[in-house]
Amino acid sequence: MSLTLEREAIQPLPVLQDNIIWIWSRGSEAVVVDPAVAEPVIQTLQEQQLTLIAVLQTHHHADHIGGTPGLLHHWPNAAVIASEQDRRRIPFQTQPVSAGAQIQLLGVPVDVIDVRAHTSAHLAFFLPEGCSATEQTPALFCGDTMFSGGCGRLFEGSPDEMHRALQKFAALPDSTRVYCAHEYTEGNLRWAHALKPEDQAITARLREVVELRSQKQLTVPSTIAEERRSNLFLQAQSATELGRLRQLKDDWKGF
Ligand SMILES: [Zn+2]
Repeated sequence: MSLTLEREAIQPLPVLQDNIIWIWSRGSEAVVVDPAVAEPVIQTLQEQQLTLIAVLQTHHHADHIGGTPGLLHHWPNAAVIASEQDRRRIPFQTQPVSAGAQIQLLGVPVDVIDVRAHTSAHLAFFLPEGCSATEQTPALFCGDTMFSGGCGRLFEGSPDEMHRALQKFAALPDSTRVYCAHEYTEGNLRWAHALKPEDQAITARLREVVELRSQKQLTVPSTIAEERRSNLFLQAQSATELGRLRQLKDDWKGF
């Protein structure tokens, strides 16, 4: 195995009910995506002797930024990278970014993508060249825009905006690993299966996911190829279809 200093990883840290904080580390440095809470992150980083260099914020919801002030207390030099359009709602940001920007983190390029829909300034972060932790496979941190088998609720955006955001994801390479911010896969696929019981890809993925969850395992990261196969929202051909699916899912009483 590689020496401690050369280790690279993207680790999930499940917190609260179903949030997943992603810890991306290389050598002794770490980047944390959407820290809902601080304490478990501090503990994990300290155990692994990692220094926090940056926090990526996809959007302003409390279960994504709640831990950031506590992390800054421990690592005051860490950058907080967030949408410049959300300076008011993410007031501790130190590195405002906008869509189309490319930043460098842990030695690799990270593209900033505008995916407003769940919130009015939601960003996604895409590693087109991946990193050693993904064996150079592209990686996407998509926050609450897309979940495995689902998409985020439209709190501040329209079906048209969500359709546009998801089409950006659909255009990414099949192999792209998808790191979303919640473990919602089983509920999403149970709903999709109830709606389209004849869909074999959804049935197969649901079976796989139920098995993983029964063993208390996470179902993410997923891949763009998997989402293309079994995510009805990603498959939606129009904003109208997406809006109809979103309404059906919002009204669903199952699971
Ligand atoms: Zn959210």
